[in-house]
Amino acid sequence: MHPMVKPALRRAWRDRQTVQFGMTSAHAVTVGPVDTATGSFLALLDGTRGLPLLREEGRVMGLPEGRVDELVARLTSAGLIDDATAGGAQADALRGRAEAFDRLRPDLAALSVVHCEPGGAARRLAARRAMRVQVRGAGRVGATIASVLAAGGVGQVEVLDGGCTEPWDITPGGLGPESVGARRDVAARQLVRRATPGRPPRAAEAAGTSGAGEPGLSLVIVAPRDGAAAYAPDPVAAERWLRSGTPHLYAGVVEATGVVGPLVLPGGSACAGCMALARAERDPAWLRMLAQWRSGRAGRVPACDIGLATTVAGLAAAHALAFLDGELPATTGVRWEVSLPLLDWRQEPMPPHRDCSCGAGGQAHGECASGVGEPQDTMAG
Ligand SMILES: [Zn+2]
Repeated sequence: MHPMVKPALRRAWRDRQTVQFGMTSAHAVTVGPVDTATGSFLALLDGTRGLPLLREEGRVMGLPEGRVDELVARLTSAGLIDDATAGGAQADALRGRAEAFDRLRPDLAALSVVHCEPGGAARRLAARRAMRVQVRGAGRVGATIASVLAAGGVGQVEVLDGGCTEPWDITPGGLGPESVGARRDVAARQLVRRATPGRPPRAAEAAGTSGAGEPGLSLVIVAPRDGAAAYAPDPVAAERWLRSGTPHLYAGVVEATGVVGPLVLPGGSACAGCMALARAERDPAWLRMLAQWRSGRAGRVPACDIGLATTVAGLAAAHALAFLDGELPATTGVRWEVSLPLLDWRQEPMPPHRDCSCGAGGQAHGECASGVGEPQDTMAG
């Protein structure tokens, strides 16, 4: 082990004996009392020395016997120590790909703030390379989500959409002006390739060493060009993800409102069917209006503010990455909404509906509650 005080956390002395690691209230930790000699010793915990050398340096600096181990243990249990060499074989492989690793350094640093154990950040970042995510929609929101996920180290990002790129699909983080007139799926594939740090993994490598062949989808992101289909998602379209236990996340812009969520854990949190049932109960005219909206004239250019679209895409991608890293982000069973012009985020809880066949509301029907993977176990625990 080469202990390193997490460089991502800013360090400051609150007083002569207390060190604060981290600036924001979300992750700041204070450690004290720390005497002057121990305080000076902290500078040596930079990942370049193993414990035997650190003990030796501690002796030279006059630290009492055992102080070095005690300090490292204390800082480790406070979540402040990373290990520049830990994280397993996948993390070693990532460190060996210098070009990709350098591009992902800020992401690694962010993960080190969030995940306490030494090597946890490198392990999670490396694991993203084996993930397969499908983004449905290559408009202003979907294409940007796809490029952000690829840039964040997700190994396989597929984008599904039809037709050809229109001038109004172009965004700074998504499809570029050279894509206009080209097939959207082809343009999106090129976008993902350009956004990927280093060389994209080959399919076999991304499948891991289990020999399982093509990996299943870790996540589907529904980000239709017309955000109405994210705001009022179609339960029929979601059936296959419910059947296969595939987590899916909705994101889009409709009129002047952006929505991120809910993240649906099949059988564990509200699905499109739950949302539709609840909405119809609250508003008896909803289904009648929905049918009119869905049968409306296609081909018009939907309203989609570029700032809103980029915000929604960025937030949706961040929620997706948090989920892929093993967390249950705040979109789980909740939709975050933001509207122009004041842009105050608000959350709309999406409780499971007792009559929905997905089983999240308590009435497990058929196979919908099966195929529940690891993230759902985390939720149950
Ligand atoms: Zn449901």
